[in-house]
Amino acid sequence: MAGLIIQPRARIFHGHDWVYASDVKKAFGNPEPGDVISLKDFRDRPLGTAIYNPSSQIVARRFSRRKQDLDVDFFVRRITQALAYRRSAGIDEMLCRMVWSESDGVPGVIIDRYTDVIVLQTLTLAMDMRVALIQEALIEVFDPRVIILRNDSGIRKAEGMELDISLIHGEKPKAFPVEVNGITFEVDPLDGQKTGLYLDQLQAHAEVAAMAKGKRVLDCFSNQGGFALACAKAGAESVRAIDISGHAISALNKNAELNRVNVEGIEANVFDYLKSASAEYDLIILDPPSFTRNKKTLKDAMRGYKEIHLRALKLLDKGGIMSTFCCSHHATRELFLENIVSASTDAKKTLRLMREHTQRADHPVLPAIPETSYLKGFTLEVIPAR
Ligand code: SAH
Repeated sequence: MAGLIIQPRARIFHGHDWVYASDVKKAFGNPEPGDVISLKDFRDRPLGTAIYNPSSQIVARRFSRRKQDLDVDFFVRRITQALAYRRSAGIDEMLCRMVWSESDGVPGVIIDRYTDVIVLQTLTLAMDMRVALIQEALIEVFDPRVIILRNDSGIRKAEGMELDISLIHGEKPKAFPVEVNGITFEVDPLDGQKTGLYLDQLQAHAEVAAMAKGKRVLDCFSNQGGFALACAKAGAESVRAIDISGHAISALNKNAELNRVNVEGIEANVFDYLKSASAEYDLIILDPPSFTRNKKTLKDAMRGYKEIHLRALKLLDKGGIMSTFCCSHHATRELFLENIVSASTDAKKTLRLMREHTQRADHPVLPAIPETSYLKGFTLEVIPAR
């Protein structure tokens, strides 16, 4: 098997599974893009098996510490292990991220399950070349009605791949309802704007909704209304939801109808909306998209967070609650919390931490791979100044 010799002190010697171009001492045996390769240290000792793509910044991603082929048996084993973990973590196995890339030992493979519809993404070249094997494994483990290959993520460009959405198993599905935490959502994984739901936030929806009874709620960056609907169902006095996407707002309206709750959806830019909003809310939720995908733009991103924190806090009176989320791995928990403190200082408000939030357990964190831990959230209450 062809492979790479890794430089001393590379990440992989600290438990990470990624090899950057600068970590490579030399290649042997002429590995081709998309190949399964072996990794060795500078004394020729084996470090495991990886997938290879020289046109990506991350040239190799290890998926086993042993010698291992990528065959149907491998994928069946990994998917079965992922399913067992989700069962043990108490995740609804009919509606979850069933396989999450590095965290489940299959770098670049994401598998979401919406009952009998499976949505597959392949974000690395090697896995993309093995879609047929993954498909066979999925049929063996789940026998799904439909498999959709939803490869429209921009991440694929980093691996030199095109974007594409296609049906690879079963008949073309229509939009269909799924139920989660007692709330019905309509998903349309083939023709919809995105894969489906923000599965990573499902637990936070319930955690925030548990505080919403009797409150006037503002859900900022609502998408199709995960937080808004959960709060309305939990007995909020009123719920308003803001998203810049017209598609998201129509999906939200449809979902509100399906659940027979009152949610007012407004298509607007949250930055503008908060500027002119009046102080008529008891609970404000902020769940923006990642403001940065890299370290370079982190400063600008933090300015963005500061602005929405400041504006939200100005709208809240004593007893008011802000739930704020950050899904950028580059902004650490500490940095994000500092940002909240700085905004509260400017707004002259004293905050008490009520609860911390994180990604749902179907997005498992491997501490040796810090990139797997990306979503953090805080719910804070404005208390009388001291
Ligand atoms: N809160 C949602 C997920 C939000 S994803 C949930 O829990 O399911 C981020 C959303 O922010 C997307 O729907 C996107 O359309 C929206 N968005 C991005 N920039 C925005 C802006 N400046 N103003 C309002 N919405 C924005």
